[in-house]
Amino acid sequence: MPAADPIVTPRRAGRWPRRRLALWAGLLAGCVLLAFVVYRYAEDAAIGRLRLTGTQRLDTDTSSLEHLLSKYDFLPGTFELNKDVIAMLQRPGDEALRTEVNVYLERVNRLARSTTIYIVNLNGVTQASSNWREPDSFVGDNVAFRPYVRDAMRGAPGGFYGVGTTRGEPGYYFARGVYRDGRMLGVATVKVNIESVEGGWADAGGKVLLADAHGVVFLSSVPAWKYRTLAPLAPGVRQELEQSRQYFSHDLTPLGLREVRVLDSSARIVAVPGVRGAMLSQSRALVTRNWQMVYLSDLAPARASARAAASLTLLSEALVIMLVLYARQRHRLGRQRLRAREDLQRAYDNLESLVAERTASLQQMTRELREENIVRHQTEEQLRKTQGELVQAGKMAVLGQLSAGITHELNQPLTALRTMADNARVLIERGRIDDARANLATIAQLVERMGQLTGQLRQFARKADATLSAVVVADVVAAALFLVERRIAQERVGFRMSTHARDLYALCDSNRLQQVLVNLFSNALDAMEMAGSTERQLVVDAERNGARVLITVTDSGPGIPENIRAHLFEPFFTTKPQGKGLGLGLAISEQIVREFGGHLRAEPAPGGGARFIVDLPRAE
Ligand code: ADP
Repeated sequence: MPAADPIVTPRRAGRWPRRRLALWAGLLAGCVLLAFVVYRYAEDAAIGRLRLTGTQRLDTDTSSLEHLLSKYDFLPGTFELNKDVIAMLQRPGDEALRTEVNVYLERVNRLARSTTIYIVNLNGVTQASSNWREPDSFVGDNVAFRPYVRDAMRGAPGGFYGVGTTRGEPGYYFARGVYRDGRMLGVATVKVNIESVEGGWADAGGKVLLADAHGVVFLSSVPAWKYRTLAPLAPGVRQELEQSRQYFSHDLTPLGLREVRVLDSSARIVAVPGVRGAMLSQSRALVTRNWQMVYLSDLAPARASARAAASLTLLSEALVIMLVLYARQRHRLGRQRLRAREDLQRAYDNLESLVAERTASLQQMTRELREENIVRHQTEEQLRKTQGELVQAGKMAVLGQLSAGITHELNQPLTALRTMADNARVLIERGRIDDARANLATIAQLVERMGQLTGQLRQFARKADATLSAVVVADVVAAALFLVERRIAQERVGFRMSTHARDLYALCDSNRLQQVLVNLFSNALDAMEMAGSTERQLVVDAERNGARVLITVTDSGPGIPENIRAHLFEPFFTTKPQGKGLGLGLAISEQIVREFGGHLRAEPAPGGGARFIVDLPRAE
């Protein structure tokens, strides 16, 4: 199976690739930048709204103040219309007239709702006053040093805000010359308390202040700001103010406003001591007076809404990033799932083809095995056939060795038969029928004997497949002995068969066992003959040994030397001269016995000869 891509891209834990890190850093910076831009935009928008409100407030407050002041503008000019006022200024010593004027001024003051009205002569001494009854009456006071008096005496209508020098009460002073026939006789002054506007400002919210041309705050919705200055006063200005005692004994210390940002000529953001956070400051110059009104609004709500907008932006960005990440993750998971499915499919296909391959090779192997089996069977069959033929060849070899003796065995009776047949014919011719009959009977015996021999030979030479059966051991020993007994007799070998129990059975093929025994007998006779032994003994013994039958063939020959014994059962091993031995007898005999489930072995005989033991399974 091909190695599938890992589901998770291998990444060293805790270390991001530099590109990814840069990307995230850039994204983060972008988000923060956007939030900052949104913050500034929202702040600017909120400030814009505040400015609109401030502008409206300034419009309202300046116009109402101007309206208030304009109501009194004409009043000082009306006193020259009063005859008593003119007469009093022309005749300063007339006390009755002064009282008349005092009462008049008192009445007008009440009607006009002004603070004080008083008239001074050209020396600046107060001649009559609406507060003439009060203990601190202005009558007799010299007010020539007051700027509004000075202005009026110079012919300019005086307008002045100041703090009274008697009671220290602030107010706006309207002053105008009193003329008779184009000549100035004195100055009429009306003092109006305009501090009431402060209450209205405070009620409307926000912080409002009114400053004079020098920047001295003289009206304010915040009491602590009064008689303070917007900026430090120049020394000359301060000296002038102290001389004119415009603000009585107040210190006129700076408010300490700090400019943070200038929005335009009439608006700026300032930090105000004692107030948390910055404030928006808007100013407006009054049309009729050299004053400026300043409106201060709290920036905290604007900044809070800007912060909220920025926070919302950050949240939205986080949400978008999360959504993108989620979508990417989903996409990646989907891809991985698809890849896994493909891998699985590939693995399945591979498995299928592998199974098909293996099945094919198994079938091939089975076919080959079957063919090999057939070949093996054929080979085994061939081997069996070859072995059979080998056994047969061995048998023929034995027969070949026996043939000289057998020929001799047959020739003797044949010669006797011929003589006796001739004798029989002569006896018949001579009429000796009984002798001839006796002769013929002997002939019949001889023929039967010869038939027996040839029958045994035919039986031995017969080519037959080995079939296992219970075989009487004594019968097979006797049949084998029959084929070699002439040689035993000729070579004067003492033959002994010690045990020949008729009930000893071995599980084997009688014909082949006979072949084995003939072989062993022939070898024993050969060994004794070749060694020229004088005392020749061949002993055959058959005995039962548990589930086995042991047939031993012992001779009194030279025995088997140690170096030869190891090679006894090898094919073509022989010590006999050429033409006498093939070296196949023991090899074939050993194979025959092995096929019976037995074994053949050789050992030295106690008397010095050789002993061969055929060990066979016993049959019941
Ligand atoms: P062959 O008889 O043709 O030589 P065998 O396989 O029958 O072949 O015997 C092999 C050899 O075993 C013989 O040549 C002989 O040297 C030895 N041998 C067999 N039987 C005896 C025996 N009884 N005594 C001594 N030597 C023997």
